[in-house]
Amino acid sequence: MSETPLTVGILGGMSSQSTIEYYRLLDEGINEALGGHHAADLVIRSVDFGEIERFIREERWDDAGAFLADAARDVEAAGADFVVMATNTMHRVAPAIEDALSVPFVHIVDATADAIDAAGIDTVGVLGTAAVMEGDFYAERFADRGIDVIVPDDEDRTLVDDVIFEELTGGVIREESRNAYLRVIDDLVEAGAEGVVLGCTEIDLLVEQSDRPGVLLFDTTALHVERAVEYSLHGVR
Ligand code: GLU
Repeated sequence: MSETPLTVGILGGMSSQSTIEYYRLLDEGINEALGGHHAADLVIRSVDFGEIERFIREERWDDAGAFLADAARDVEAAGADFVVMATNTMHRVAPAIEDALSVPFVHIVDATADAIDAAGIDTVGVLGTAAVMEGDFYAERFADRGIDVIVPDDEDRTLVDDVIFEELTGGVIREESRNAYLRVIDDLVEAGAEGVVLGCTEIDLLVEQSDRPGVLLFDTTALHVERAVEYSLHGVR
């Protein structure tokens, strides 16, 4: 372990529902490692999700990149030793954020791809926003690691995206949506997925591994936080 844990910077608010999870899980992870009353040393910069939702809906990715680069600079200025951005979707503009930072940016796909590699599989289904399931930025980063991505069909992509924006990001959890997600997960396995990436940081609020014990689920929130805990304790690698 480094002498003092490094300060984690969370670029969050996308949505705040998942940023709360990052905060809670980071504290838990550090406390598990260090005991006593130890908790994570961190800073959170939470942006207005309304702005982000508009950028996504209007596909204004350059504006989103500039907006989040500014927010990332705030995170660094507040003392972060490295930065995690608590959303999959906005990793679409990760290059703009990396350019704005002089501290490391820890990419959510890298933490997830390492877990997939460790599980010894190379074809995964992905659930996330339409931007994640349809945008090249996500599948290509997995492809660079030799991992193939399968996504749901048109109709199910709409269903999965609607649940994220109309329910999960507002803290609404519905049994009906859980069952629909589990059905989509089963269909992805049927289509050849050896595991399924929960590629939206709010999905863990709806679906847990215990809901589908027979399918390997890769929870991007948990994996990203696990990586942040490790880097805080042992240094960024
Ligand atoms: N948190 C979600 C994700 O991981 C969706 C909200 C957003 O668009 O940032 O992609």
